[in-house]
Amino acid sequence: MLPVSGLTLRVREATGADELVVLEPGGSAVATIVTLASRLTTDSQGRMPPWEELPAADVGAIALTIRQAWLGEWISTDARCPSPGCLERMDIAFAIPAYIAHHRPRPHAGVAPGHDANWFELDRTSGSSPASVSFRLPTIGDLRDAMASADPEGFLRGRCVRPIAIPAATARRVSRAMTALAPSLTGEVTVQCPACGSSHELRFDPVTYSLTELRDAAAGLYEEVHLLASAFHWPEDAILALPRSRRARYADRIRQERAAA
Ligand SMILES: [Zn+2]
Repeated sequence: MLPVSGLTLRVREATGADELVVLEPGGSAVATIVTLASRLTTDSQGRMPPWEELPAADVGAIALTIRQAWLGEWISTDARCPSPGCLERMDIAFAIPAYIAHHRPRPHAGVAPGHDANWFELDRTSGSSPASVSFRLPTIGDLRDAMASADPEGFLRGRCVRPIAIPAATARRVSRAMTALAPSLTGEVTVQCPACGSSHELRFDPVTYSLTELRDAAAGLYEEVHLLASAFHWPEDAILALPRSRRARYADRIRQERAAA
């Protein structure tokens, strides 16, 4: 389930045409994940979610949900211990559902639902605050527009905070409230080095990490299209429309036949 919107995503099996989205991305990592999600996923009732309106903080969970559907729920990777003179290999392993649960939104004191749908209001406890400060959580559509602007942070503030001009201390309160209500899934993972015993906080970015893994998993696409096209003389679009597991089975048959010949 996506932690901020509460949406449950169903992911269908990818075809070669879907794999091309990660192999030949046309935009940013976030745009690629959203394009992939809009092709592969529906909500639990089989409907297309309103992608532009979903909270931007859910993009990491969307990436991990697709990664889990393709490659399973276990993330297993490694890193070098950064302690001077150690540089030992450290294994990092965790389950996607536990990672998402650990980053779930928390209620935040001093915030109440605002008058308008999806808007929140800050408590007027501090004397320095303007009469009323409200905000909403940035959506995927806001994020896309912000990334196209010269000043993404200022752009998001302009869209999601009312009034725009507020004291710095109030802006920090808004920012803390937004982080609590919609935590980013990009965060630190604590790893202990098996050799020197020291603990390290390593940064994990679910969007770029998932995209790299999906790209590696799809890397055999061109060779399989070539095999099927040379053996069966099917056009490229027919091969790209096959579910990846069936395409892989055909490719295995062709390799076995060629090995036996
Ligand atoms: Zn070490």
